[in-house]
Amino acid sequence: MDVITNDRNNDHQVFIRRNAKYLRRCLQVLPSSHSSLDISRLTIAFFAISGLDLLNSLDVIEDDRQSIIDWIYSLQILTTNSKHIGTGRHGFRGSPTNGRDHPYDCGNVAMTYCALSSLVILGDDLKRVDKEAIINGLKDHRLSDGSFVPVVFEKENDMRFVYCCATISYILNDWSAIDRQKTVSFIMNSFTYDCGFGQCPGLESHGGSTYCALASLSLMDELSQLSAKQLSSLTRWCLFRQANGFQGRPNKDPDTCYSFWVGAALKLIDAYHLINIKQNENFILDTQDLVTGGLAKYPDNTPDPMHTYLGLSGMALNPTNNYLLSVYAALNISDRAVQHLNKLHSDWKNS
Ligand SMILES: [Zn+2]
Repeated sequence: MDVITNDRNNDHQVFIRRNAKYLRRCLQVLPSSHSSLDISRLTIAFFAISGLDLLNSLDVIEDDRQSIIDWIYSLQILTTNSKHIGTGRHGFRGSPTNGRDHPYDCGNVAMTYCALSSLVILGDDLKRVDKEAIINGLKDHRLSDGSFVPVVFEKENDMRFVYCCATISYILNDWSAIDRQKTVSFIMNSFTYDCGFGQCPGLESHGGSTYCALASLSLMDELSQLSAKQLSSLTRWCLFRQANGFQGRPNKDPDTCYSFWVGAALKLIDAYHLINIKQNENFILDTQDLVTGGLAKYPDNTPDPMHTYLGLSGMALNPTNNYLLSVYAALNISDRAVQHLNKLHSDWKNS
């Protein structure tokens, strides 16, 4: 068993081993309390794989790497592996649970984002991805205002799905599914009265939607849409979210995941250096479970895969952190994984 100590500045190797063990376990088995996540197992896989990458510990799943890649591909909706192929259904399903015989079997943009990101992190060449079908499918998820719905049967559109579609387009290096002018307008119209971004135009600012908006603009190379005045008030809104860790909205308790959502938003607008890095890191470390590993939403809560990953990526934004791999804020994967993606893009260009 790892040495258990309350000294948060103890051996970083213990921190890495403990959390790598937790994330590896998340790939194998989850407690019954997480059963509601069964239909979105790909998200758990992404949190675990990308978390292990940031911990520079992908070696702990090296023996399973190929079988994990094959499992991810088994969730891709192809004409050969779904009974219900049709308009907009391409992409990745979240779990074998909602598999090929289910009448609602279809791709979900959030799951496709998690699948593609995970494949890139694992060093896959994306040769088995049906890029054309996914991009054509995205066009069926697009609404007239430039926003996107997660699956073709749903009407729920917001900034999260804009971000997923921007990421998918970036990874596949094909922006033809995005009506740039309309999507940029949707994002900019969601810059709201209290100077952050809401999930949709007219809604209250939120740390998660602020990240999704800025990351989408960054991936589209459209951050210059923000005026100097907007940038200044947005920086202020984000900085005011820090108590010790970060909150998602005013008057909420700090929550580990916002160390990434708000921290990365500040990184994207070159204002991360203005936060109190030490207080943020201490908050995240206080949410650790020193027995099982993993990070929780709040101190003294039970850890979960999402907050473990976003706590790690929140810490990895710190340029002076020397025991985690650095994270590329707009894609929420390591800079090392982005290098692999850049190589794929140049190989595609030259082929
Ligand atoms: Zn949270």
